[in-house]
Amino acid sequence: MLVLAAAIGVALLVMFWRPEAGLAALAALAVIAIAGVFAYVRRPFATQPLAASAAARAGVSALPFALIVERAADPMIIAAGGDRADLNARRFLFANAAARELLRIQRPEGPLTTAIRAPEVLAAVDEALFEHVVGHALYQAGGVQDRVWRVRAEPLDSDGDIRLAVVSLRDETEFRRSERTRADFLANASHELRTPLASLTGFIETLRGHARDDEAARDRFLTIMQVQAERMRRLIDDLLSLSRIELGEHIAPAGQVDLTVAAIDVLDALGPLAQERGVTFESKLPPPGEAEAPGDRDQILQVIQNLAENALKYTPAGGSVSVSLEMGLDAASCVAPRSAGTVHLSLLTPDHAPDRRYAALRVQDQGSGIARANLPRLTERFFRVEGQKSGEHAGTGLGLAIVKHIVNRHRGGVTVESAEGMGATFTFYIPMTRRDDAEAGAA
Ligand code: ADP
Repeated sequence: MLVLAAAIGVALLVMFWRPEAGLAALAALAVIAIAGVFAYVRRPFATQPLAASAAARAGVSALPFALIVERAADPMIIAAGGDRADLNARRFLFANAAARELLRIQRPEGPLTTAIRAPEVLAAVDEALFEHVVGHALYQAGGVQDRVWRVRAEPLDSDGDIRLAVVSLRDETEFRRSERTRADFLANASHELRTPLASLTGFIETLRGHARDDEAARDRFLTIMQVQAERMRRLIDDLLSLSRIELGEHIAPAGQVDLTVAAIDVLDALGPLAQERGVTFESKLPPPGEAEAPGDRDQILQVIQNLAENALKYTPAGGSVSVSLEMGLDAASCVAPRSAGTVHLSLLTPDHAPDRRYAALRVQDQGSGIARANLPRLTERFFRVEGQKSGEHAGTGLGLAIVKHIVNRHRGGVTVESAEGMGATFTFYIPMTRRDDAEAGAA
């Protein structure tokens, strides 16, 4: 800066003495100043080599990259080839640990066909070696569980006659499985909606045709149509609800729920239905204000409602449904079987947290119970036990799937205990507010 000021001073002095030379000097100084400003503005880019050299000093460039590739989670091999016509001349020069395990390779290098036998993968490698383009293939590996790998063969620049390619494999099994689940789900949902829709269309045709002037038939058909339309509405409501819950499943609930108040609200709402069916509710709940847990109140209401409604649906007239709530349990006590002679199954297990305390809500009914073989399938979407009588309000088969996803969002668990002819007990448990958390919140 000082030098620049001195130079400007000299240039001004010169201007008094010889104006044209002074002006030229000033112009030259202006160019230098502008160049300086540019250099200053571009400074972050100029520091990049500096950063790189700092990293080099820290030893990053000295890292053994071969070791990093060797330990990479995805299988990777380097393939080499000379003459395209000679299949035996293709070799692998390197295979990392994941590749050696997947392809059961014992040696560090050898003929390519001893590592890769699938023709479509070999063709992809050939594309990279001899056509200098990226080759793609799918590789199906057998074993205990069939796995699907996406193969990518990329040409490497190489001198001389030997051509090189890097072949990497990525496990796509889970991705494909979830794609299939999505497709199955769509097929099932469409099928479930198509049944009542076909029935509605059939009745509309009948009412327009030969039943047009038959008043008694018209009333009967309209009642059936109303039941079918109601069924479609329930299905759509449950599907939308399930998709909303799944979307927010990874976000921990922000509110607090008083579980006693939630249970009382649900039992009150279901009172008229219970009365209609001749079933009574028995509840064993701590006083309001003593059973607080972090949670989304609307979702917890939905869980209790789905379990209590199922219990009501399957309990015969004259029977009772018991709803009880226990606090401060550890995870093992939540899942411990309650009655002898029943089968007990965990439908959802939370991550292990030894000092966590849970609130567990149980709904026990006196219905027909559920056979052992059907227990693991209860939370499958659209699963319904065949031949079960549930009255005219046949379920959608989505209720327990909704329960599972909501409880999962609350980091809790779900269990079922049942045997044919012995009723069923469903329990859900969610973590309680920890005392130290609550005190910290109150402070
Ligand atoms: P739905 O809407 O059909 O009740 P759920 O997902 O809630 O759907 O339940 C799935 C199936 O599990 C039901 O169709 C029924 O066959 C069986 N189920 C659920 N709860 C009970 C219960 N308390 N007693 C007997 N069977 C039950």
